[in-house]
Amino acid sequence: MAIKSFHPPQRILMGPGPSDVSSRVLEAMSRPTIGHLDPMFVAMMDEMKELLKYAFQTKNELTMPVSAPGSAGMETCFVNLVEPGDKVIVCQNGVFGGRMKENVERCGGVAVMVQDEWGRAIDPQKLEDALKANPDTKVVAFVHAETSTGAQSDAKTLVGVAHQYSCLTIVDTVTSLGGSPVKVDEWDIDATYSGSQKCLSCTPGLSPVSFSARAQDKIKSRKTKVQSWFMDLNLVMGYWGAATKRAYHHTAPINALYGLHESLVMLQEEGLENSWARHQKNHLALRAGMEAMGLQFVVPVAERLPQLNAITVPDGVDDAAVRAALLNDYQLEIGAGLGVMAGKVWRFGLMGYACTPRNVLVCLGALDDVLGRLNAPIRRGVAVAAAQKVLAG
Ligand SMILES: *Cc1c(COP(=O)(O)O)cnc(C)c1O
Repeated sequence: MAIKSFHPPQRILMGPGPSDVSSRVLEAMSRPTIGHLDPMFVAMMDEMKELLKYAFQTKNELTMPVSAPGSAGMETCFVNLVEPGDKVIVCQNGVFGGRMKENVERCGGVAVMVQDEWGRAIDPQKLEDALKANPDTKVVAFVHAETSTGAQSDAKTLVGVAHQYSCLTIVDTVTSLGGSPVKVDEWDIDATYSGSQKCLSCTPGLSPVSFSARAQDKIKSRKTKVQSWFMDLNLVMGYWGAATKRAYHHTAPINALYGLHESLVMLQEEGLENSWARHQKNHLALRAGMEAMGLQFVVPVAERLPQLNAITVPDGVDDAAVRAALLNDYQLEIGAGLGVMAGKVWRFGLMGYACTPRNVLVCLGALDDVLGRLNAPIRRGVAVAAAQKVLAG
């Protein structure tokens, strides 16, 4: 049998990413492929850097998308800023902090782990205690928005503590960028990476990064070569850097970059503050519906991310059966629990283009139906109305 073209179904993506991609972005990606050194393409790259600086709220010259997913942005930060023997404090409150540890160790660094409960924000006091106990620490790394649990940490305070001890900071803003405030300059973050497929609502496969002047100094004064050729920013800057001749480094993912450009234009049109407010409002509507049903959030109110809602699976309910019914009967994708939360929580994303009143109402209605059919212990028929009340307010 001949294999034919692949035609995916139209889903509603309300998991931990990817999120829904607008037709505007998909259309941009279908435009003609041109050369990665074409002057027209280079002009688009310059615009892309400006758009990313806006999204990150930074003037950092070294702001650009890495040609690979968020995990590669993470790795780019670590391989450039960590040299063999460097001590790095990693604050962990979920799955992604564990990956930071892996990165430190693979760079030959020494990871000092500061553990917080999963589902809670990172405690700045614990970081301070660790810095006092480890005065030779060079870098502090943490995840701003833990997608595995839906907890948001106070990045500004954590970076401030790290700087009191003269450490550079690496901050994961994969899930926060575009959906809740990320202020790279005001918070004085040294290195950050994000992802194209969460609140920026582009296709997966690109990782915006930004590095402060302090971080660049460290990269330039390294005693050892960056262990990764592909991610060595000293080389990448020959292609992405300002006032360079734009020499070939690797072939940029040209059409993917058209897509990111378009999604960032959309973010600029909406305005960052409006985007943050939209995520917050739809989150509050979803929350009202969930709570009306009697479902519980994992994270305490003050530490919740609007764009990632982790809900405890009620006792006796089959986590996977609910997700399968949502997907098959409603074309609705939500996320499963990760790590220690596997089977115990559902993760409802409200990210970027998927963060709409329509999706909130569809999701609550679908969940009400599916849980009802499975005789789950919820209050039926009240969730949508509770959300509507918030949306109307
Ligand atoms: C999704 C995510 C990543 C990884 O991004 P990929 O694009 O999947 O490689 C890293 N950190 C956080 C917090 C994420 O949510």
